[in-house]
Amino acid sequence: MRIIATGLGLALLTACGQQEQAPAEPSEAAIEAGLPAPGTATTFTRQANADLAARLDLSQGSDGEDARRDRLAFIEDEAILNANGDVVWLIPQFEFLDSDAPETVNPSLWRQSQLAAHHGLFQVAEGIYQVRGYDLSVMSVIEGETGWILVDPLTATETAAAALKLVNETLGERPVTGVLYTHSHADHFGGARGVISDEDVAAGVPVLAPIGFSENAVSENLIAGNQMSRRATLMFGNTLPRSTTAHVGSGLGPGLPNGTVSLLLPTEEIEGRGTVRVIDGITFEFIDAAGTEAPAEFMFYLPEKRALCTAEVATATFHNVLTPRGAKVRDALKWSRVIDHVLAEYGDRSDVVFASHHWPTWGQENVAGFLESQRDIYRYVHDQTLRNANAGATMVEAAEAVEEPDFQGADFTTRGYYGTLNHNAKAVYQHYFGWWGGVPAEYNRLPHEVTAARYVEAMGGAERVLEIGQAAFEAGDYRWAAEVFNHLVFADPDNQEGRDWLSATYEQLGFQAESGAWRSYYLTGAAELRRGTPDLGNPNLGNPDFLKAVPSLDLFDALAVRYMPEEMDRDPFVIVFEFPDRDETLSILVEKAVIVPRMGSTEDPAATVTINRSDLDRLILGEAAPLGLVTSGKMKISGKRSAVSTMFDALDQPDFWFNTVTP
Ligand SMILES: [Zn+2]
Repeated sequence: MRIIATGLGLALLTACGQQEQAPAEPSEAAIEAGLPAPGTATTFTRQANADLAARLDLSQGSDGEDARRDRLAFIEDEAILNANGDVVWLIPQFEFLDSDAPETVNPSLWRQSQLAAHHGLFQVAEGIYQVRGYDLSVMSVIEGETGWILVDPLTATETAAAALKLVNETLGERPVTGVLYTHSHADHFGGARGVISDEDVAAGVPVLAPIGFSENAVSENLIAGNQMSRRATLMFGNTLPRSTTAHVGSGLGPGLPNGTVSLLLPTEEIEGRGTVRVIDGITFEFIDAAGTEAPAEFMFYLPEKRALCTAEVATATFHNVLTPRGAKVRDALKWSRVIDHVLAEYGDRSDVVFASHHWPTWGQENVAGFLESQRDIYRYVHDQTLRNANAGATMVEAAEAVEEPDFQGADFTTRGYYGTLNHNAKAVYQHYFGWWGGVPAEYNRLPHEVTAARYVEAMGGAERVLEIGQAAFEAGDYRWAAEVFNHLVFADPDNQEGRDWLSATYEQLGFQAESGAWRSYYLTGAAELRRGTPDLGNPNLGNPDFLKAVPSLDLFDALAVRYMPEEMDRDPFVIVFEFPDRDETLSILVEKAVIVPRMGSTEDPAATVTINRSDLDRLILGEAAPLGLVTSGKMKISGKRSAVSTMFDALDQPDFWFNTVTP
């Protein structure tokens, strides 16, 4: 029997460490044909970036003042380390941003990255603070009558603990008297165990989260974890260095820490609009925002402080309606409506708005203006995509037709530093119409490896495809060049010239991208073409906290998506699992094509496995071996043992580092 935790990953996998393979030298032929040296911006890229800088007023203005305002202290150490002394977060890693935008970075993304890289403990208002710049996200700290109420304890226990230490050292040592998770994404709860323990919770410290939090914190990345986590490495540039030719920021925040992600379940899930709770003497008025940026999310208003927290519903960027790492598509219309509700209800009684990423906005009029712009950008992409779609546009046509509205040039919090108009329009299209554009030829396409070879042949062979692609590259037509070279690489991944040119093309697209996610995706793609797919071993995507929170049926559904029918050579049978520690029984029907778990027992099972769920979790995590559990009596199998091993042997173990830029 072998069980591996793959697939039980955090979609928001933390940084994996930089790739160590040396890049392959570009081929002589590509260099002779004019391939730019890696890390060089072409004339077209320089021009595109200069044009944007000329069109927008990129001075930092009030955003710069807001991002720097009232810094009280900062971490003076070189790095935040874990218990083994490994670097979780290098404090000076973004110091290179402290200069003018280089040719290799979109100047608007450069500005955003500079703003997000300001780090330290900042005062937001009387009794409200934030620790920013040590993680992808921001931890807010509210002074209660006796201690600190922490809002969103970052991604990793190490960064969260360092943030709390900075707070205590600067403002005076106080206990944590409450923790809030604004939503079900790991960069808002992963650090919890760095600031609060099970004993604190048992002693009565409340941990509040939005309704549906526990289910969604695990389920959104349970079944699809391997693909989502792998894509996250591209989207967040986890394997890229931090430099002017690589990762400069995620648009949403500086980057992901290389730390420990925990999950401490909430003591109460809050629902509704206007629900009030008093925590350590402070009144919180909650506003449910489920189904906007996350499936479970709330914002809150602090009436005594005239302060509004918009969680991740409204931040200083246009967010993802459908994130490139993958998630269920979000509802842009609902998103816009929720922001409008908050504007109507709290816009004229908020002196400051702060969120769980980026810096706050001060002044009632500015708060209202911020909420208006945020409301409008989600409505704009929604309405204009549907307008075009209803007029007959396909998905790609609709996305091309949605042009930058004037207000995006005036209010930079609506610009596409994370989500973009282009991919968010496609997401809106998908929300309503599914994955295809409505053209019959697109419905049942051949796989890309097949069409790629045929395109190459139809275009006149590999040499001719290189010429066509190079002509596109030389004309600065990088989107077309990418498509042409991509055919060549998918037809023949060993075509070194094709790889060289595709890599160079991705690099220019990355250097021009205003979205940090696009930039990282393109530049990681370029690096993987040069160096090959990273060889860093399968990361352990499992985690006892997470597994514990997974209902047994969901756990077996996650195993079912790994089923290899070709390995099943017996007549269908049933295995019953008994979990005494949960007082649960689950039966699993093993058929030729599918395995079907169902809660409850069944008659005549081929085998019955009695094991505590906690031991099964340890088995899945590789912390316990089947034989050891059997000999210690912690796992009992009655009936046919071979049935149990047949099922587990038929579970696939997908590689984490599967190819993305080659077939
Ligand atoms: Zn977040």
